[in-house]
Amino acid sequence: MSTLQRGLCSASAGVGRATPLAAVPISSPGSRPCLRLPGLAAPFAASPLMAPALRRMPGGLLGRQSFRALAAAAPAVAPFPDTPTPPAGIVDKAHGFTLQRQQYVKEYGSHVLMYKHDKTGAELISVLNGDENKTFGVVFRTPVDDSTGIPHILEHSVLCGSRKYPIKEPFVELMKSSLNTFLNAFTYPDRTCYPVASTNTQDFYNLVDVYLDAVFHPRCVSDRRVFEQEGWHFELDNKEEPLTFKGVVFNEMKGVYSSPDSRFYRVVQQALFPDNTYRHDSGGDPEVIPDLTFEQFQNFHSKYYHPSNARFWFYGDDEPLKRLALLDAYLTEFERKEVDSGVETQKLIHTPRTVTEYYAAGDGEEGEQKAYVGLSWVLSDTPLDVETELALGFLDFLLLGTPAAPLRKALNDSRLGAAVIGGGVDDDLKQPCFTLGLKGVNPEDADKVDALITSKLQELSLSGFSSTAIEAAINTIEFSLRENNTGSFPRGLSLMLRAVGAWIYDRDPFTQMQWEDALSSFKSKLASGQDVFGPLIRSFLLDNQHRVAVRLLPDPALAAATEAKEKERLEAARGAMREEQLAAVVDNTSALKELQETPDPPEALSCIPALQLSDIPPTITRVPTSAKQLADGATLLGHDLFTNDVLYLEAAFDLRPVPARLLPLVPLFCRSLTQMGTAAESFVELTERIGRKTGGISIYPFTSAVRGQEQPVSYLMVRGKAMGGKAGDMLDLMRDILLTARLDDRGRFTQMVAETKAAMESGIISGGHSYAGKRLAAQRGLAGLLSETMGGLSYLEFIRGLAKKVETDDGWQEVKSDLESIRSVLLQRRGAIVNLTADSATLAAAEGAVADFLSALPPASAAAAAGGSEWDSSLLLPRVNEALCVPTQVNYVAKGGNLFQDVPGYELHGSAYVVEKYLGNTWLWDRVRVVGGAYGGFCSFDSHSGMFTYMSYRDPNLLDTLEAYDGSVDYLRSLELSKDELTKAIIGTMGDIDAYQLPDAKGYSALVRHLLGVTDEERQIRRDQILATSNKDFKAFADAIDCVRGDAGRVVAVTSSDKATSVLEEKPGFWTVKKVL
Ligand SMILES: [Zn+2]
Repeated sequence: MSTLQRGLCSASAGVGRATPLAAVPISSPGSRPCLRLPGLAAPFAASPLMAPALRRMPGGLLGRQSFRALAAAAPAVAPFPDTPTPPAGIVDKAHGFTLQRQQYVKEYGSHVLMYKHDKTGAELISVLNGDENKTFGVVFRTPVDDSTGIPHILEHSVLCGSRKYPIKEPFVELMKSSLNTFLNAFTYPDRTCYPVASTNTQDFYNLVDVYLDAVFHPRCVSDRRVFEQEGWHFELDNKEEPLTFKGVVFNEMKGVYSSPDSRFYRVVQQALFPDNTYRHDSGGDPEVIPDLTFEQFQNFHSKYYHPSNARFWFYGDDEPLKRLALLDAYLTEFERKEVDSGVETQKLIHTPRTVTEYYAAGDGEEGEQKAYVGLSWVLSDTPLDVETELALGFLDFLLLGTPAAPLRKALNDSRLGAAVIGGGVDDDLKQPCFTLGLKGVNPEDADKVDALITSKLQELSLSGFSSTAIEAAINTIEFSLRENNTGSFPRGLSLMLRAVGAWIYDRDPFTQMQWEDALSSFKSKLASGQDVFGPLIRSFLLDNQHRVAVRLLPDPALAAATEAKEKERLEAARGAMREEQLAAVVDNTSALKELQETPDPPEALSCIPALQLSDIPPTITRVPTSAKQLADGATLLGHDLFTNDVLYLEAAFDLRPVPARLLPLVPLFCRSLTQMGTAAESFVELTERIGRKTGGISIYPFTSAVRGQEQPVSYLMVRGKAMGGKAGDMLDLMRDILLTARLDDRGRFTQMVAETKAAMESGIISGGHSYAGKRLAAQRGLAGLLSETMGGLSYLEFIRGLAKKVETDDGWQEVKSDLESIRSVLLQRRGAIVNLTADSATLAAAEGAVADFLSALPPASAAAAAGGSEWDSSLLLPRVNEALCVPTQVNYVAKGGNLFQDVPGYELHGSAYVVEKYLGNTWLWDRVRVVGGAYGGFCSFDSHSGMFTYMSYRDPNLLDTLEAYDGSVDYLRSLELSKDELTKAIIGTMGDIDAYQLPDAKGYSALVRHLLGVTDEERQIRRDQILATSNKDFKAFADAIDCVRGDAGRVVAVTSSDKATSVLEEKPGFWTVKKVL
């Protein structure tokens, strides 16, 4: 889930966030955490050319937009034209632009035009095709020469009001009221990107206009208060209190610097590039951010945010000339200028180095001995040709692309650390790098990790890779290139980020989109038996001395030291202030707050262009669904959708027969199924067969509450995709995995336990809000409990016990037999559901294979025959307030209650989605983020369980945030929205409900609705209710969430021990304190 996911998904009348457990689409970039830069930790799957695992999702203004969960469907994506006849509307000269180049790119069925703006020299790539999910972006090169975070603060600030849109936050208004399918901004180490997307043409142009005005004429360069709010300022409510630093980016980056994983990647980048802009942190180092002055900030904008330093991107099915006209209207005001913004090349250094740094660790037993260790290279100081890039992508996949890939496997099997880090090739910056290592390493073993990586590379450079491994790599990469499945991330945006990766360095952006020829010539090279990979490994890695060995060591004293340093700095600043200066800070603090708390007048807000309710289709979009009852109570669902010959398949097995005590083992059971081999194949052979025959198979538990019943739905979900002709192969694989997977590989299992533990420990530091939210839900319902048991703090506690248990022979025997028990109670034809998505011919052709698959399963398991589930409410967590303590500089504060249980007579109404979204974008955004200085503040309403939860993200406050939450009720009660404002709120909600989906997501949504018993009739009722939302509904919802106010709601926060204790001093007995790390 994306780090800052809001309650977006619950806005779907159909599905909602029915997936507290990782129901991660097979290749959804949006499902990855959206970290701030250099994303490094967050690969995203949609990555033509380089192997799927390579690309990283840059973070942004708010990393929350990306996961549009399983909302209802939008119209089908039109197949791209396959004829290269240029469409109408291509002209050589128009609206101040001159066409430079034109090419039909068959890989994306697109005509790609490159224009130059005559007056300013601005460049534009205009992509014409049949994709209704239109994309626009503007990118500026923004290299830095310090770590004050200017580009990042500017990225936030330009969206806070502009010449044509003179209100506080046009960005937030767009979030409230547009149908966007994407709206965010990213800061990279050397560039800043502003992308938007929408399927509605008018909406799309509205978004483009607001973004263009924002970047070229922002209020922030003349109004210091924006800089103070988004960047940093001194805060002082009265002269007696201690001085503090506040600022949204300041706190966002404190969160980033609290996470050792992101620390590691920052250390790597800075060590690899000692001589160019990459040695700094463009996101901002919290210790350096307060050095930034407003004047430096203004100068940066005027230098870099100029058309002569801009690259523009349009993509989709809209009118090509209109694009030029829209841009020219903004550009024509400017004169051409020389902007020196090129990124210097880091010359390769011929001496390997070692860099040692420290991160803030806990002081408990669990925090000991956890070093992050890795080797990292800059691969080249000259640009690579397309075929070499492609070859590197293949090499990377072969080395690391699956858990069975030899280099990854060697690291895992070594037991030197808990989890692999680094992810191999990274090509987001000017020069490609390669980083690999382990975390959770005993510092004494650091050199062993380096030696292992080097010796394994040595070995592979001589032995090469097996022909089956190569075949699997070719199929996997080719499948991903041709499927171009970017999940909820717009395809046009994924393509833009690829093209920009070359364009921004003055390299040819077209070659990034044209991989077909390079791929076929590379394949024939492979087929000829030529040693392709050996020379690559030698020249780029083994013989390349521009290598850094990185050690990031735990320091239990660092968190306190960092805090003390900040305090000292603040005290010194205060000491240096004269009385009247102090008074000025107090005045400024209250003036800023007042400004932040004063809403824009409705007249001003009307400058934001909005659609009308009549632009919204009144009826739901249905996903075509056929249902067939098969023998022994199995069900076959089919969705006839155009999928370009790919078959998407889910097989779901009811988890309810699994005894409660075995539930926490289920996630590892799922992983074991594909990671230990089968009766007939080793783990490596099995992985290669999956790679050769399919586009991927994943297995995970799915859980959701169902409205009106105590028992949740919970399924083991087996998901796969393959070309239509390989349906039988894919189902054979699934059969072999489910029936004959070995569950007895102790070494592998132990490794998976260590990996899970490490991942959860990092997760609670970088995304504590989801742990806090799960904890609250587990107090109130079985679905919440399951989610916490299989993915929350209880799960982490279980995993810690398990790590000890599998060390003993007896313990392992017990675990092994538990894994087998899960399989035996779970696997049965009875109640199984198979869900297929493809065109009708492919669906029909797959039916036989589905029947064979089902007939291989036992008709009914013994446990299921014995009847019933033993899950009941006695398992729920006690209803207490909790502080979960970890080493961190920021807080994650959650507060919640259950509207279905706590509000007598409450009935779900569609307007709840509108109010929830509105509250998040207004009161909570303003109080928790803008005034409070947190990176995020929002609420989420699960329309299946009834849980209503407030959450904050990277928050400097605790009790103040709770107060802001409690203020929601009166805020909503006092609202009298004008017709315009209501319409905007409704349209914004409809944008979530009708979120754009690729065909596989539509089929999956339909399956989830089937599992939850959500009918199209019900979806239509919710839609009608949403469209008719009135002021009365806001007040009704305020009455409902009154049950969470004050002592009635429960609080769980992830915070530091110090802060947890200081709350107890202020409010004795407020919560129980639990040390987690
Ligand atoms: Zn940010």
